[in-house]
Amino acid sequence: MRQKMAMGTELVRNTWPHRWKKMKRILLVAIFSSCSLCFGQEEFTKARERMVREQISARGVSDTATLRAMRTVPRHNFVPLQRIGDAYGDFPLPIGEGQTISQPYIVALMTELIKPGRGQHVLEIGTGSGYQAAVLAEIVDSVFTIEIVPQLAQSAAARLKRLGYGNVLVRLGDGYLGWPEHAPFDAILVTAAAEHVPQPLVEQLKDGGVMVIPVGEVRSVQTLTLLRKRGGRIVTEEKLPVRFVPLIRQ
Ligand code: SAH
Repeated sequence: MRQKMAMGTELVRNTWPHRWKKMKRILLVAIFSSCSLCFGQEEFTKARERMVREQISARGVSDTATLRAMRTVPRHNFVPLQRIGDAYGDFPLPIGEGQTISQPYIVALMTELIKPGRGQHVLEIGTGSGYQAAVLAEIVDSVFTIEIVPQLAQSAAARLKRLGYGNVLVRLGDGYLGWPEHAPFDAILVTAAAEHVPQPLVEQLKDGGVMVIPVGEVRSVQTLTLLRKRGGRIVTEEKLPVRFVPLIRQ
């Protein structure tokens, strides 16, 4: 039975539709690779400037450090090669494993909301492509980021290393539990939707610290929520409706 199936597979693979599909794939990769080479660094810099001007400053993000970081991080290095031409578009993009890199404006807004600065120690939940971590790493001292999907954790860690972000530490695991060994944190950013604010994260926030998290129905619309810890008390502020991929539990 097993032999028959293997033969059947061989036969299907040698048919014209299959060969054509394979050739198309090779052609596409070749075209996109050469495009990314001829679309030089200068073009990417221009696209990034435009992104900051038209999508981010225009919507009210004004923190200088955040805008500088958004102008600096090469977002095109964080998206799949086939979507490199869309890297600076005003929308999220798929990054594989059913996950997405957030829209540039949302990355900028979440960064601004934590009031990032030198000397800070920040935790991110949901590394994904590593883009949000890189934006934070341009501003703060150290970024600790947790990803639950092994392939994403691995590729983000390699990408961040290749791009020189030596102040980012990636961990594979369930971000719901935080990273107690490095707590307390000045700020925590959760980039996946949660039904409630995870208590371990509240505990790992420094007194005076802030957390940004999308809270609400996970397969629908959530509210981007800002939490401040003051004298052990939590003060909550609702910011805007958002739609994030769900925070998965192990
Ligand atoms: N910040 C990312 C995008 C986040 S998408 C970027 O800049 O590209 C949300 C990510 O959260 C996904 O990669 C998903 O796999 C991850 N995730 C979901 N549940 C998680 C959990 N419990 N712990 C850690 N990561 C989680």
